[in-house]
Amino acid sequence: MELITAEKLTKSYGNGDARVQALKDVSLEIGSGDFVALMGPSGSGKSTLLSILGALNTPDMGKYLVDGIDVYSLDRDRRADFRREYLGFVFQDFHLVPYLSLRENVMLPLTTKHLPGREKRDMAQDALTRVGLGDKGDRLPSQVSGGEQERSAIARAIVNQPPIILADEPTGNLDAANGQAVMGLLRGLAEEGVTIIMVTHSREFGAFADRTLSVADGRLM
Ligand code: ADP
Ligand code: MG
Repeated sequence: MELITAEKLTKSYGNGDARVQALKDVSLEIGSGDFVALMGPSGSGKSTLLSILGALNTPDMGKYLVDGIDVYSLDRDRRADFRREYLGFVFQDFHLVPYLSLRENVMLPLTTKHLPGREKRDMAQDALTRVGLGDKGDRLPSQVSGGEQERSAIARAIVNQPPIILADEPTGNLDAANGQAVMGLLRGLAEEGVTIIMVTHSREFGAFADRTLSVADGRLM
């Protein structure tokens, strides 16, 4: 069985005249180590799909299995455990905490782990080194460039070594050179067997993925 299987996912928002059918019968399979780009026009349902795959947004109907786990049959706490164990998130606007150093930001996913502080620091340092920021862990987000902030967000996503990384337009706020650097990092993780699902508007960056899923009007084409 594939690592990720979704069957007929459906999601709507709002009621009555305001009702929007954001996803319509979306089914997909994604194998371990696949690097998948989700592409499609604004409003087509990409972020909704990514949030459901991220166990953050309950579908109205359909089934979502990861590693044999029926994600939306888990209660709230178990679903949070599932997210921590399986998923790393990278967002377009970084979501770094402004008053924490880069190292402290990267340590955040380790908060609930029963590990000595020293070990958590070492894990964060390893992740920062991995993204080329080994010497900048003491800086605040405001003291580094946008590209470095996005690389810090990737370090935070990988610090737990999750098997799956979900990225929503990770290059959306970056110039071409920084975008290439971020894509190179994601490509390298995929080579190591990490499964990556990335929303992007860019054909250029989409080409880093192994395959593209096109989303249009709530459906996969
Ligand atoms: P994309 O990421 O491709 O731009 P989204 O998944 O964000 O698409 O949105 C799909 C559709 O669902 C759009 O019509 C959007 O307006 C609507 N939508 C998304 N999130 C919400 C929400 N929280 N409440 C109401 N409508 C939403
Ligand atoms: Mg979106």
